Amino acid sequence: MTETTADHRDSYPPSAEFAAAANADASLYRAAADDRDAFWAEQAERLHWHRKWDRVLDWSDAPVAKWFVGGELNVAYNCVDRHVLDGHGDQVAIHWEGEPGDSRDITYRQLLDEVSQAANYLTELGLEAGDRVAIYMPMVPEAIVSMLACARLGLTHSVVFAGFSPTALRQRVDDARARLVITTDGQWRRGKSAPLKEAVDEALYAHGDVPHSVEHVLVVRRTNVEVPWTEGRDLWWHETVAQASTEHEAQPFDAEHPLFILYTSGTTGKPKGILHTSGGYLTQTSYTHHYVFDHKPGQDVYWCTADIGWVTGHSYIVYGPLSNRATQVVYEGTPNFPDEHRHWQIVEKYGVTIYYTAPTLVRTFMKWGREIPAAHDLSSIRLLGSVGEPINPEAWRWYREVVGANTAPIVDTWWQTETGAIMISPLPGVTAAKPGAAMTPLPGISAQVVDEEGKPVQRGETEANGYLVLDQPWPSMLRGIWGDMERYKATYWERYAEQGWYFAGDGAKLDADGDLWVLGRVDDVMNVSGHRISTAEVESALVGHSGVAEAAVVGASDATTGQGIVAFVILTAEAKDTGEALIDELKAEVAREISPIAKPREIHVVPELPKTRSGKIMRRLLRDVAEGRELGDTSTLVDPNVFEAIRASRA
Ligand code: ATP
Ligand code: MG
Repeated sequence: MTETTADHRDSYPPSAEFAAAANADASLYRAAADDRDAFWAEQAERLHWHRKWDRVLDWSDAPVAKWFVGGELNVAYNCVDRHVLDGHGDQVAIHWEGEPGDSRDITYRQLLDEVSQAANYLTELGLEAGDRVAIYMPMVPEAIVSMLACARLGLTHSVVFAGFSPTALRQRVDDARARLVITTDGQWRRGKSAPLKEAVDEALYAHGDVPHSVEHVLVVRRTNVEVPWTEGRDLWWHETVAQASTEHEAQPFDAEHPLFILYTSGTTGKPKGILHTSGGYLTQTSYTHHYVFDHKPGQDVYWCTADIGWVTGHSYIVYGPLSNRATQVVYEGTPNFPDEHRHWQIVEKYGVTIYYTAPTLVRTFMKWGREIPAAHDLSSIRLLGSVGEPINPEAWRWYREVVGANTAPIVDTWWQTETGAIMISPLPGVTAAKPGAAMTPLPGISAQVVDEEGKPVQRGETEANGYLVLDQPWPSMLRGIWGDMERYKATYWERYAEQGWYFAGDGAKLDADGDLWVLGRVDDVMNVSGHRISTAEVESALVGHSGVAEAAVVGASDATTGQGIVAFVILTAEAKDTGEALIDELKAEVAREISPIAKPREIHVVPELPKTRSGKIMRRLLRDVAEGRELGDTSTLVDPNVFEAIRASRA
């Protein structure tokens, strides 16, 4: 194990070597500033269009945008066929790694065959462009094949995370009125098969009534468990899709043809069915994947650790990377099966060069200890990415030092299910990144940090009173909430209706250099004795203490201060729980790092935190606990049992 020296700068400029070979350079910002529409038209040229657009943007029906008006393309053709036609059929598209240790390499030609088979069979089932298909599958290749087959036929997919309950599936199937559900017999969970087809049946027969929209359930064999079966409705993939012809010609669809519906994580409320369309979405996912990850087709081995049930899996496993002819790793299982070495073994096995994950996992790796990654040759890694929540500087530095050999640039990418693609991020090779900052909007994207009235906040303002707004439409923006345009307008466009800005729901600040820091949800900003304090900053201070692995902070109503800060912390493996002494130390740490006003009123040591599938902390539920209320919507919570332990800690 080589000793790395701690590197504690405030800002990390790119090396000359990296910059020289980078896809991006500063001229992109200038080009986009000169003429936004022309800039986006140029990015759209990355794709194959069956028919070129007449107009780049039509914003006359705001807040519903039309991008690349009159253009026609096929999203799946762009992600698969054209690479084969360009002579790259033998390039591996997916290094698939199954949880039990089985693996499969799938070339672009094989992917084309499988997508064509699925498209032929879905057509045989009578599905037509515009119909909805629910996909409830673990991370098996057929899940990606299913998404692409839908895209190829103009079917709108709605991927539902396979960890969700039958109730959550049922709500989504009903909301979208899906005609088909694609699933697997079971899914691997730490060496055991968890039933999945059974969960589909439970969803479809819930409350004794069968949803009239679902005509068929298509089932992929994965874990070989017995499944309940309804003759006529249920179909085995291997008896149908796998027998279909591999010849299929992709038809063009309008640039605004619906591509998918995806429900948000639900960290701030009931999940919203976000609608995305084709041309603009694919343009921006392709563009961002190319520049933000500095992706070089045919050279890089890219790995995004997200699940396809999350928007990151849609944009940065399926559509962005495949449109850019990536060779990527897709892993089915959890990071600690059979043990905590799994991710690093996979990195070594495939020579992963670009690794994209969430801060929650980085903190988990920290908790497991640096000797684990240090036991592996990670020298292939040249770029690291982060998404999902603000990454605290402590985790950022650890990530760069331990996983990135003190050299790999980190891209901290801010975006949402609603934005469809990355919006704010450093550009590798150009930006001198600061640990914890999302830095600046990408070329072609325009954002501001404003106060309640919409006035720009001052640079260097320390109080957490800034709101992140997007003041110009962007190609991959959502086109609405499925079936609820009123909620779409009310949620995102009412707050700054006068200015016509998109309200992201996140708090943010600009530092003295004008760089942007995302501070977490506006709903999560606390008000203590009239001071606005961000949960992210208090959490970051707590995690800065060597004994704390993870922290979640909420504001609970307080008779004297308005709100009082309540913190829940998970300790590291090495930490000694000295009870009150430790709590006092942690309170002092926050007071020192931020201000005595930010000192938590209560700190509870807990074994787990309530999280969504994408690893986000459900603060609204912790607030319910802190204020002694009934829990709100828990349908997107990974493990509802965590609350027993959390309640016990407060007893
Ligand atoms: P809901 O909208 O239903 O409450 P959600 O917002 O958690 O759910 P997502 O779309 O998965 O659903 O998450 C987007 C949010 O994640 C952003 O609004 C932001 O709060 C957070 N986020 C994502 N990436 C970053 C980042 N790099 N830095 C800071 N925050 C981030
Ligand atoms: Mg959100």
